Amino acid sequence: MSQNFFETKIEFLKGVGPQKAAALNKELNIFTFGDLIQHYPFRYEDRSRIYSIRDITEDMPYVQLKATVMSASMVGEGKSKRLVVICKDNTGELELVWFQGANWMLQQLKRGVEYIIFGKPSLFGHKFNIAHPEMEVVSNVEAQTGYLQPVYHSTEALKRKGLDSKGISKVMRTLLEVVKPHIRENLPASILDRYKFIPKVEALTQLHIPQDENTLRKARLRLKFEELFFIQLKMLRMQTTRKAEFQGMIFQKVELLTTFYNEHLPFDLTNAQKRVIKEIFADMRSGKQMNRLLQGDVGSGKTIVAFICMLIAIDNGTQACLMAPTEILADQHYQGLKVFADKLGVPIAKLTGSSKKKERTILHEQLRNGELKILVGTHALLEDVVQFNRLGLCIIDEQHRFGVEQRSRLWHKNPDIPPHILVMTATPIPRTLAMTVYGDLDVSVIDELPAGRKPIQTIHKYDAHRLNVFGFLRKEIEKGRQVYIVYPLIEESEKLDYKDLMDGYESVCRAFPGIHVSMVHGKMKPADKDFEMARFVKAETKIMVATTVIEVGVNVPNASVMVIESAEKFGLSQLHQLRGRVGRGAEQSYCILMTDYKLSADSKIRLATMVRTNNGFEIADTDLKLRGPGDLMGTQQSGVLDLLIADLAKDGKIVQEARVAAQEIINKDPKLELPEHAAISKHIASLRKNTTNWSRIS
Ligand code: ADP
Ligand code: MG
Repeated sequence: MSQNFFETKIEFLKGVGPQKAAALNKELNIFTFGDLIQHYPFRYEDRSRIYSIRDITEDMPYVQLKATVMSASMVGEGKSKRLVVICKDNTGELELVWFQGANWMLQQLKRGVEYIIFGKPSLFGHKFNIAHPEMEVVSNVEAQTGYLQPVYHSTEALKRKGLDSKGISKVMRTLLEVVKPHIRENLPASILDRYKFIPKVEALTQLHIPQDENTLRKARLRLKFEELFFIQLKMLRMQTTRKAEFQGMIFQKVELLTTFYNEHLPFDLTNAQKRVIKEIFADMRSGKQMNRLLQGDVGSGKTIVAFICMLIAIDNGTQACLMAPTEILADQHYQGLKVFADKLGVPIAKLTGSSKKKERTILHEQLRNGELKILVGTHALLEDVVQFNRLGLCIIDEQHRFGVEQRSRLWHKNPDIPPHILVMTATPIPRTLAMTVYGDLDVSVIDELPAGRKPIQTIHKYDAHRLNVFGFLRKEIEKGRQVYIVYPLIEESEKLDYKDLMDGYESVCRAFPGIHVSMVHGKMKPADKDFEMARFVKAETKIMVATTVIEVGVNVPNASVMVIESAEKFGLSQLHQLRGRVGRGAEQSYCILMTDYKLSADSKIRLATMVRTNNGFEIADTDLKLRGPGDLMGTQQSGVLDLLIADLAKDGKIVQEARVAAQEIINKDPKLELPEHAAISKHIASLRKNTTNWSRIS
């Protein structure tokens, strides 16, 4: 596209003017021709088909009919006063109703005349009617039947200015006429040929003024592909640039690691663990800086992998750090790693917001002089006062909770050469999403649980069966097991009918006389929380009543039952994370989802998914379909998910194709300098002007 032309202010478009332009600015953030042309329809109404009255069904979102007006009369009094029109085609009769503008409509409609009628049918008793349908005399429409009508987002304020969906559509037609000559192809011929894509100008035209369903589909496909292709291209370019420009420290020595393998390895590593360690080690030896995403479901054994990678860094004269999103998680990691570190006598420390000043001073000094080898902590690690002697490896856990900024700050902890970066996540990320959001990272997956684990059994129970469930818990406790009972919230909102944690706690205490019960929630002082947690870890208490503060990281292998109250209030990935708190020991573990009888359709799907599978990736996929990507991981911050037309939940295949195509081009022409790629690089340059932040996603 010739950029300048698309930056023309929208008020200069014929039929818009300053007032409408101001409304478009304010309501839809549309300022320029370019903005408006990218205001894509969100659905289409099929005006190509005319139904018979007899064929109307309840599940039609809207219907188009051709029928003659037989009678029209005002009915009722006061507020229920309305216009009732009976119309008829050769298959039957139908009632049309107007509550607003009834008098005006009554004057307009002509008896005995045939109309095209369009609206949403609803069933009253045994009869259908349509409220406020659109009516047009047949002879006026005949010329344009057989088209799909685009539906645009609009707002009340815009509607008052004549810019309802139809009004926008009209403006769009004008716009298309003027911009058409300026729309340039931005995909190379090789791709257009291979996928038989229609040209850009045609795709945009068809999207706004579709000829028929088939052409519209082609237009949408092309535009979706294009959108995803450019995201992939950016990601891959970033990756290649980084690999070319950023040298990595070369780690080859494995002395400590060998000692650890020979003398202290507490269990055989799974094949998946061995594989990802190899992949990581290969990066660390390559001379290029590592940027790798390590995915592994809860319980897959990421901690020991992290530790082994740290050992490699330490073996080669550098330090390692691990950053977690919360204090609880940082502490869990610290405890987990310390077990291994102590065996080898490797100095390890923890730094969080609540570390005392005195400790900090010592710690800072030990970091600077290189004495301290492993530092585990929270955001506190990012502070400038935290200076390493030489940072070789930085592990970031649960990365989606960290902003992009923070990731890049870790890069600069060494003045000359960036540390290797390993991002760990237990949130299984659906492939399509990972490719889009983390397309710039290499990916390793631990797709196997340690041997001997029994899959957790998940059961859905209604509140009415609580006695039954309590009986089951009692038996498990008698066998020596421990139990979590999790509630959605605590005293957060009277509006919501959440079971109150306190009530729950009391009723649990009553139901289990003589059994010690702990309680932990977000409003407790950290010290009290730790105290209660510690009692549960030591098995002094058998039941832990808690809110989701225990969602991540907590590791009590003897706990074998997770009861989730009001389970319908939780999102799928949260349920999965909670369930991951059990099944950590050798015993059969259970997850019991408690709900009321009343459940929404989505809740039913979530519960059924949990009962059906333990596979985090399957769960993440379903979650993506139910909730959409933005919600799933706070990806808005990455700026890459403001997709105009592609839908990550549905367009997985297109993401993959786009990835392949982008990779081929980058392989052939990493800097996009070949003449055949001129269109691409021009387009990227224009994108870059608008979104400054994508190059900073590191
Ligand atoms: P996560 O990936 O959720 O962080 P952890 O690293 O906490 O998982 O490991 C979960 C549990 O499994 C820990 O108790 C850990 O010691 C154990 N574990 C890890 N790897 C293995 C293995 N290869 N064989 C047996 N147990 C293992
Ligand atoms: Mg872990």
